[in-house]
Amino acid sequence: MTKFTHFTYKENSLYCENSSIKEIVENYNTPLYIYSYQSILDQYQLLEEAFNPWKNLLCYAVKANTNKAILKTLFNLGAGADVVSGGELSRALMAGCDPQKIVFSGVGKTEKEIESGIKNNILQFNVESEQELDAINNIAKQLGKKAPIAIRVNPDVDPKTHPYISTGLKKNKFGVNHKQALALYAKASTLNHLSITGISCHIGSQITETQPFYDAMVKIRELIDNLEKQNITLNNIDIGGGMGIPYNQEKIPAAHDYAQAIMTPLDGVKGTIILEPGRFLVGNSAALITKVLYVKPSEEGLLFTIVDSGFNDLMRPMLYQAHHDIIPVTKEATTKDVITNIEGPICESSDRFAKERKIPLQKQNDYLAIMSAGAYGSSMSSTYNSRGRPAEVLVKDNLFFLIKKADQLEDIIKNEVLPDFLN
Ligand SMILES: *Cc1c(COP(=O)(O)O)cnc(C)c1O
Repeated sequence: MTKFTHFTYKENSLYCENSSIKEIVENYNTPLYIYSYQSILDQYQLLEEAFNPWKNLLCYAVKANTNKAILKTLFNLGAGADVVSGGELSRALMAGCDPQKIVFSGVGKTEKEIESGIKNNILQFNVESEQELDAINNIAKQLGKKAPIAIRVNPDVDPKTHPYISTGLKKNKFGVNHKQALALYAKASTLNHLSITGISCHIGSQITETQPFYDAMVKIRELIDNLEKQNITLNNIDIGGGMGIPYNQEKIPAAHDYAQAIMTPLDGVKGTIILEPGRFLVGNSAALITKVLYVKPSEEGLLFTIVDSGFNDLMRPMLYQAHHDIIPVTKEATTKDVITNIEGPICESSDRFAKERKIPLQKQNDYLAIMSAGAYGSSMSSTYNSRGRPAEVLVKDNLFFLIKKADQLEDIIKNEVLPDFLN
């Protein structure tokens, strides 16, 4: 798989699909997120084809990117949604997601969120503790309804990814230990306002090997078979998200390989296979375009390239030491490569996109594209240092559309209140 099929150079100028990035940036300024519409369609189709032999539902993990236009793109393709908060549930519904295609995950669902899920008739709550199970039952009782639930099982497998994005180990806070899951199902079956609809798990993110999926599914299969013996039949087998994408040089299994690893242990199970892909669908669909402000040498012989985007726009490098390719928007044949740190403007030393990276020497006002910025980019952005979050543009072939305006200062401060005594 090529990394950025829809970001290519034409005569040394970087294009997204058939739109010139320089031209887009000149319309909207930097920093700017630019998404390829076609890239999202392609990734969706890859997964859909890979799981086509089985009855399946792709529930897009909304937290990866919550922009309305991105959500609508995926829901138009038939995707459902995996939501982890009441806000995400509302966003998914507002963007037209069929509630019967929504699963609600997360370890800390509030009473209000549970109520909203039940009232909106979602497909299933993925329950992460015994107390949550009781809470859902009680709230459903008050509403005179039955809430559909799956137990999120923690299969205790190592996804071999960054510790901050591993979720399926015993020591992680997520899910119910697989050894206790049967007992919890037995309890759930005695609660009058619950209907058991499935089983779920999610072992981590940016998983670039198939073995962890296989190992997790072996454990899930054991549980499914045991539940069957107790006459508990499951409609939905939710295997979670976590399929990786190439950020750097890593070799990523093909969608078919993921499907093979997941479905081999599940061979012959009845019910719908639910997937919760986030990063896989949108991660490589976008670049964050930033402008070079200053280039300054340090006394230690380092070179700092200071850009106008920081970790408030894209947190992954500072949060997970994540690698993002950084490439020039305009290539100039005569420019020499240099080794440089690419640093943001925020007043923290960790505000750095790349350390000792080889790129062509930049001049002031040149543009750089920080690649693979579609997932956990915009959705994790903040206004730290009173920096407005970037505008976002969706490219469709030779057309481009503003899908989010940049924050203005008013947007950042509008919820602040000055008590009288300070006036
Ligand atoms: C974050 C998350 C996902 C999506 O993970 P990706 O690595 O983006 O595919 C899916 N399911 C749950 C429960 C999550 O928390």
